[in-house]
Amino acid sequence: MTMQVVVIGAGIIGITTALELQRRGHSVLVLDREGIAAQASAGNAGAFAFSEVEPLATPGIMKKAPKWLLDPLGPLSIPPAYALKIAPWMYRFWRASRPGRYTELLHAQASLMDLSSTALTRLIASVDGEAMMQRDGQMQLYESEAEFRASLPTWELRRQHGIDFELLEGREAIAERQPGLSPRFTHAGFTPNWINTVDPKKWVEHLAQVFQNRGGRIEHQEIRALTPTDCGVRITLADREVEADKVVLCAGAWSHHLARTLGDHIPLETERGYNTTLPEGAFDLRMHLTFSGHGFVASRINGGVRIGGAVELGGLELPPNFKRADTLLQKATQFLPGLNTEGGTQWMGFRPSLPDSLPVIGTSPQARDVIYAFGHGHLGLTQSAGTAELVGALIDDQPAAISLNPFSAARF
Ligand SMILES: Cc1cc2nc3c(=O)[nH]c(=O)nc-3n(C[C@H](O)[C@H](O)[C@H](O)COP(=O)(O)OP(=O)(O)OC[C@H]3O[C@@H](n4cnc5c(N)ncnc54)[C@H](O)[C@@H]3O)c2cc1C
Repeated sequence: MTMQVVVIGAGIIGITTALELQRRGHSVLVLDREGIAAQASAGNAGAFAFSEVEPLATPGIMKKAPKWLLDPLGPLSIPPAYALKIAPWMYRFWRASRPGRYTELLHAQASLMDLSSTALTRLIASVDGEAMMQRDGQMQLYESEAEFRASLPTWELRRQHGIDFELLEGREAIAERQPGLSPRFTHAGFTPNWINTVDPKKWVEHLAQVFQNRGGRIEHQEIRALTPTDCGVRITLADREVEADKVVLCAGAWSHHLARTLGDHIPLETERGYNTTLPEGAFDLRMHLTFSGHGFVASRINGGVRIGGAVELGGLELPPNFKRADTLLQKATQFLPGLNTEGGTQWMGFRPSLPDSLPVIGTSPQARDVIYAFGHGHLGLTQSAGTAELVGALIDDQPAAISLNPFSAARF
């Protein structure tokens, strides 16, 4: 049965979902107040990081956090103006790190990663997207034997989840894969099946173009509220109301505001991240590099280099602090000594994050015709194709490919 579906949000989650619903024969309208890939999906590191199966809230992480917080420009920061507001989220984050809960979350995250990896293969084939992918793998770098040894349990988890990797010991083994690195890096883990897109913004734009070529519609509209009706959902816009059979809410870090208009209270926060994109020729980067102990990465974007990461728990309103991007770039010059830092463009993005690292993918507890698909945190690009397929199954009332219980909005 063809349904009229409105997708809210034209980021990677909304556009990938819209394409999937269109493929299933529905009539799909995407609404976004800013346009295609205007927020987090525009400037991220571009990685399909399928090997990252471990949730962020690992057992013992709260013991490490105070050390990170001491450095105001370090990998994790909380602006004083936001410290009280983030406290309830931090408490839930801590609860998610308890060993039993952590194991449940790990299995759920791994199942979504596995589905997303195969779903991405299907998506790339269906939109003729291979030219937008870089299949060079990823290297995670360590600065000492001790740091490397401490990472081995995580590599063991990856092995248990069927992820291919190679552990490299010694500077020569590392230099064979990536010349020009600082000798401080003594060990590494290489994941060959990691994929990067050439540019995350262009990837979303490409998907949006395919969606439109196939008859899909994308409009600029701010959504103010959602109301369930007898036969669907009423969507309140700035100047009018529209009706839909189904609504899929993919509004990234702003999704909880709209969920609240239905009566759902979801503890979504934003982990703000920063980066600088350097033009072509900045460095001969052969693959995605992760500087494990420093919370940032280097990835190749449009032939240039994007240096960024870090987490700032600073909400949606505080102005960006681009000193963070400066600090990451400065550190990168120590790690990649030949890096040319001229001509960079700085960016800050709002990761939409739930305290247990899993997104919400499921029906609103308050409105049976509203499907939630948001809160993908650090992994929205990675998990986009899998999320879209899961939403497709929900809309068509079919069994989902993985258990959706861990992703339910009712878990909070
Ligand atoms: C520095 C950084 C690096 C990252 N690197 C990676 C990476 O390498 N790999 C990875 O998988 N993930 C990465 N991420 C995370 C990834 O970017 C996000 O998880 C993902 O982009 C979220 O996509 P989204 O579609 O949910 O949200 P968004 O892209 O933010 O889109 C939400 C859209 O909703 C619209 N919207 C919101 N409210 C309304 C409203 N009321 N009315 C109308 N429209 C509305 C917004 O305008 C926006 O366009 C990174 C993030 C950051 C910050």
